[in-house]
Amino acid sequence: MHTLRPALFATLITSLVAPSAHAWDYEGHRIVNTAALAALPADFPAFVREPAAAERIAFLAGEPDRWRNMTDLPLKHCASPDHYFDYEQIASAGLDVKTMPDLRYVFMSQFAAGRAAHLAEFQVIDPLKNADHTAEWPGFAPWVITESYAKLKSGFSYLKVYQEIGTPAEIANAQANIIYIMGVMGHFVGDCSQPLHLSNHHNGWVGENPNGYTTWSGFHAWIDGGFANKSGIKVDDLLPRVTPVKPMVMVANPGGRDPMFAAVVDYITAQHAFVEPLYQLEKSGALKAEEATTSTVGKKFIEDRLLTGSQELAAIWFTAWKEAGPDEYLRTQLEKRRDAATPPPAAPPTP
Ligand SMILES: [Zn+2]
Repeated sequence: MHTLRPALFATLITSLVAPSAHAWDYEGHRIVNTAALAALPADFPAFVREPAAAERIAFLAGEPDRWRNMTDLPLKHCASPDHYFDYEQIASAGLDVKTMPDLRYVFMSQFAAGRAAHLAEFQVIDPLKNADHTAEWPGFAPWVITESYAKLKSGFSYLKVYQEIGTPAEIANAQANIIYIMGVMGHFVGDCSQPLHLSNHHNGWVGENPNGYTTWSGFHAWIDGGFANKSGIKVDDLLPRVTPVKPMVMVANPGGRDPMFAAVVDYITAQHAFVEPLYQLEKSGALKAEEATTSTVGKKFIEDRLLTGSQELAAIWFTAWKEAGPDEYLRTQLEKRRDAATPPPAAPPTP
């Protein structure tokens, strides 16, 4: 956990107020989604592995970043904070990552109150750099992943019923929805495998810096894509290291929080632990451009992050399928439709 002294915040407005633009570049996000497909056990529904579906899931890995290229403030306001989670801000607001609410708007109200009560712990927001009003928030990556998981579960729930009693068009539509949700949510799980998306230190080290870590504002972009491109990281090199996932254990946890939310927070906490090692690696020189093609240390670190994201994503997908019971409301509606369409038995001829 990194704590920033309030006095230092005044000098950090630029780097802190403007959250990092992207996590992995499109190529990195494609790697996460593609490797996640390879990590799905053989009994996962096969339609997602058909070439067109697999390509669509890979393409959709970039979708939430395409939204960010638009200038529409309502979309920026709503969607941009889903890409990151500045872990340290939770403690700054007097909250605890281990107990923060799993319901997004409940968390938002608690965070807003905590932020207001500990305002000195937060940087002053420059309105000129905050037209979309996102600087007030720490980011919502754990929530968007948990909500996407529930949407995916819903998709499998209705697919299971359509496969029993629906039309071919309904089955195809349900499968298309599942592919869309899988692809888009993969972006956010991938974001969280990039440690710089989980920290105040997202665009170079900020605040106290006794270890002399880089304050280079381009560090984030370099890790997102520059280094990966330079060092030639490719999905084909990662696939041999992919292992089939198991479903996650979905039991009520002590705080009563949604089990998937708790699991996602555990994942994010584990990835946040790589923030400082990443800066140490940079300091050692292992992430410099001239090292990218000759040293395997930095390359392996980045590959490990991408692989971790893939394995987590596959486990979430697999769990959604396993946990999805048939949509009983839909089944009732479809049974009524079937019965209404069935002509009643012909009346016996009148004598
Ligand atoms: Zn992103």
